[in-house]
Amino acid sequence: MPELPEIETVRLQLEKVLVGQTNLKFEIRNLKTVHGDLSKIVGKKVVSIERKGKVLLINFGPGLNLGFHFKMTGQLVYVPSAKGQVLSARVVGGHPTEDFVNKMPSKHTRAMFHLSGGTLYFNDQRMFGWVMLNPKFVDKLGPEPFSLNTPKFLKLLKGLKKPIKIAIMDQEIISGVGNIYANDALWEAKINPRRPANTLTAKQYHDLYAGVVRVLREGIKYGGATAADAKYVNLHGLGGHYQDHFRVYDREGEKCKRCKSVIKKFVLGGRGTYYCPKCQKR
Ligand SMILES: [Zn+2]
Repeated sequence: MPELPEIETVRLQLEKVLVGQTNLKFEIRNLKTVHGDLSKIVGKKVVSIERKGKVLLINFGPGLNLGFHFKMTGQLVYVPSAKGQVLSARVVGGHPTEDFVNKMPSKHTRAMFHLSGGTLYFNDQRMFGWVMLNPKFVDKLGPEPFSLNTPKFLKLLKGLKKPIKIAIMDQEIISGVGNIYANDALWEAKINPRRPANTLTAKQYHDLYAGVVRVLREGIKYGGATAADAKYVNLHGLGGHYQDHFRVYDREGEKCKRCKSVIKKFVLGGRGTYYCPKCQKR
């Protein structure tokens, strides 16, 4: 599931190629994926590429934001028309699959946007993702970690009894912290993922906020994370590399980088949760 660093990585790349291009027409291949009257953006120029939490927004002028939510398996592939199917000219982002390198459109293509300089494909294998004009969803999202500081972070969490890991992943409280980075941020701060959010000490709120920002920034620096089994993606140099820097995420049975204890895994709120039983006792 693409998280904030993966979405920010594709946002930065799309910003370089899409801004200024005109949306000539669109094609919808799966009606359930696409919401809103997209005819409003035909003939409009891309003004900017924004991101709110894990939602990517292509702005076509005042009041016209085309939102993409990648959910489990959503991805964007941009193929410039001049260079045809030349892989090096592509911009790809989101869930890494062979479609990053395959001919477009593929059987997973749910919507296409034909722009003046190329085509943007929204692909989604499992179809939980969506494309929506002016998604109200983004208005409900909490602030981004980067827009906070320790006192604001503390204020958002101190009244919550739920486990701290579930609290920081609640997109209506804070937007953009997904499972990978929640696990790693809690390890950075030496906090047990089950700990009720309202019981942290002042120092722990401080350390956790610093940890969240640190792992997200590192995620962006490495272009996000790509699963180790996505060999075709790595082969073409298309994926991110944060997976080489996981603290505890996906490291069950391996040694803690700090104390050498064995990393444990359990399920919390339906998500795989990784922690060091020694460093993250409380
Ligand atoms: Zn440890």
